Amino acid sequence: MAGGLEGGCSCGAVRYRLMTAPMFVHCCHCRSCQRQTGSAFVINALIETDRIERLAGEPEPVLVPTDSGRPHEIHRCPSCGIAVWSDYGRRPALRFVRAGTLDDASAIIPDVHIFTRSKLPWVRLPQGVPAFEVYYDLKTLWPAESQERRRAILG
Ligand SMILES: [Zn+2]
Ligand SMILES: [Zn+2]
Repeated sequence: MAGGLEGGCSCGAVRYRLMTAPMFVHCCHCRSCQRQTGSAFVINALIETDRIERLAGEPEPVLVPTDSGRPHEIHRCPSCGIAVWSDYGRRPALRFVRAGTLDDASAIIPDVHIFTRSKLPWVRLPQGVPAFEVYYDLKTLWPAESQERRRAILG
């Protein structure tokens, strides 16, 4: 998957471009993501903040409650309120881009399904994609290159 994917909010005030492919893509079926999206799951593309080129607008962070108690800020368009990415755990160098906001959302395919314990019963997971009741071990699942990228920003 190549970089260069563009996306944005519904009103067009916030526009962005992913400069490279993400490190890894989560499809999260947890209750929080279901509530926050109003849907069955969220698709989060994990990418370095400095690989997101801002084309227009400045998303505003909104703090939301979490089960874990770790901070989660959803960054939203200040005009239309659509969420474009998240910061989990106050890690400013790492963004979870909501892949449904890409102009071509089909360009991103989840590498893993997580929190399937609360997956809606009518959602069928694809064959061959790792799926976990809760979470997974990053070191066994992420490609070496992606792990290196993650180390470069988080240490
Ligand atoms: Zn907007
Ligand atoms: Zn979730």
